Amino acid sequence: MFTHAHADHIAGIDEVRALNRIVQRPLEAFATRQTLDEIIRRFAYAFAPWTNSPFYRPVLMAKPINAGETIRIAGLDVRVFVQEHGRIESLGLRIGPFGYSTDVTNLNEAALETLTGVDTWVVGCFLRHDAHRTHANLPKVFEWVARLRPRRTVLTHMGPDMDWAWLRANLPAGIEPGYDGMVLDFSAEATQTASSTVSNPGTPGQPVRTAAGTTG
Ligand SMILES: [Zn+2]
Ligand SMILES: [Zn+2]
Repeated sequence: MFTHAHADHIAGIDEVRALNRIVQRPLEAFATRQTLDEIIRRFAYAFAPWTNSPFYRPVLMAKPINAGETIRIAGLDVRVFVQEHGRIESLGLRIGPFGYSTDVTNLNEAALETLTGVDTWVVGCFLRHDAHRTHANLPKVFEWVARLRPRRTVLTHMGPDMDWAWLRANLPAGIEPGYDGMVLDFSAEATQTASSTVSNPGTPGQPVRTAAGTTG
């Protein structure tokens, strides 16, 4: 699933052949027609028809989707909605109790309604205080959280001033910074025992910001 075609979200396509080798088949690439056109323009070889193993190149199959649709992927119903992302739009996702909204400056009423009732919400937050042309900052995320009231909000796509230790110490209860390798459990069972699912990256780990890139 590609939410949009900015480089920090698609530049890894060359490496997808490793995933093809694991599953031994082409991978579906879900995105809007506009995003797919852009990705195909830049990675045309990955979308060439696949004839046979071995996977010496990435092999993707374009699967156009539209905002407002609910699509079935890997046994999950995924509702996709439009988000403002500076000069372009990105897609947000709602999968049952889970929501995913990165690369977003503003959520319109339809997006907020789609996210209503979300239990665990991953949201892009690039800066602590200052405004940014293409990403939300902490005050904006707080505003959204006050309305949506997720049980758990996980910040992603953090910029250089989003100091991880500072965030761990200062964010309000229910909001936490994500980290590479983080696993989120939002099964019905987990959400019923909310108090037991507090995130902990583990003692020896060097917490890593989920996205250090400044593009997007
Ligand atoms: Zn991005
Ligand atoms: Zn972006």
